[in-house]
Amino acid sequence: MAEGGGNSKSEAHVDGSEDHDSSPSPEENTQDSISQRMEHILKSFQDFAVSDEAPPQVLEEVSFEGIVKYIKSGKCKNIITMTGAGISTSAGIPDFRSPGTGLYDNLQKYDLPSPQAIFEIGYFKENPVPFFTLARELWPGSFKPTPCHYFLRLLHEKDLLLRAFTQNIDTLERVAGVPEEKLVEAHGTFATSHCVDCRQKYSQEWIKEKIFAGKDSVPTCEKEDCNGLVKPDIVFFGESLPSLFIERVGKDLPKCDLLIVMGTSLKVQPFASLVSRVDPSCPRLLINLESPPCGGDPFMLLFGLGTDFDFESERKYRDVFKQTTCDEGCFELADQLGWGEELRTLVKSEHERIDKKKTNVTEEAPTKSSSKSPQKKSKF
Ligand SMILES: [Zn+2]
Repeated sequence: MAEGGGNSKSEAHVDGSEDHDSSPSPEENTQDSISQRMEHILKSFQDFAVSDEAPPQVLEEVSFEGIVKYIKSGKCKNIITMTGAGISTSAGIPDFRSPGTGLYDNLQKYDLPSPQAIFEIGYFKENPVPFFTLARELWPGSFKPTPCHYFLRLLHEKDLLLRAFTQNIDTLERVAGVPEEKLVEAHGTFATSHCVDCRQKYSQEWIKEKIFAGKDSVPTCEKEDCNGLVKPDIVFFGESLPSLFIERVGKDLPKCDLLIVMGTSLKVQPFASLVSRVDPSCPRLLINLESPPCGGDPFMLLFGLGTDFDFESERKYRDVFKQTTCDEGCFELADQLGWGEELRTLVKSEHERIDKKKTNVTEEAPTKSSSKSPQKKSKF
């Protein structure tokens, strides 16, 4: 799933330069991919070579406080957030990258040829049972959004959020009340499903009923003579990223005047490459527990590793790293912006509302729990 975007085809799509509808041949795709990759590499080297001409510094001071002042100044109107698994770990959702606690470690019981097989489309078509067993465990609705998710909602309510890009498939941004049009779920979503054979679309309610019908139950297409498997629209290995992601990357990132990256160590491409697609003067704040690969090493960039973040050098002028949990980072940001109380009240009241709804659902209609979250239909 989340790692599924890492194929070279998807990278070629990120700048939106490919026309999906014209269906280029695989050869054309490969050529495009190589030439775009070469262009990107050349640009990395050129940027590195001419980096003496520093872009204008937007922040009064290159620090967490400097970011706060910038937001308060009113000059910052289009914030883009990029989030990863780290923003959902405090909700209890397993981070499949953390050894020992990760999802992959818990997959041994399925006797898979490899841990990744559970998210490989070829394996899924042969044996979908492990995926649906896991989907029952991870099904949206069992988890509450974190303070970080509600911070995203606050950014929207303050009219500061241009777009929230997420690698997560847990739909917690939606549950927290971030409107669908502000959201780009780069690795897909459980909100809708499609037949893998005829592409017939199915709702979240429909597939939920099928998945939870019993142990080992597998949803199949209801179209006459099809009987194909129906899979939630999360991105598997070997599948393209959603077209909305490609479209939004091209349109939104040039407009961004503050990028906030949270809960990702930026090791997954093409998502990680987005940080380099904002304007060279655009300030960037990273809130994460783990230090990211950074420094703009052209050889690292060449292999799609690392980012051009510069938190440490004397020439730093826009990048700020706050090493902490996403929740702590968001509370600190909210406190300094004067929104601390508002954020705490929002988290408390929303969590109470979700708990109450769960209790009511359990008491009144134990089999009909699909309307737990205020989710709308997806565009995908
Ligand atoms: Zn079908």
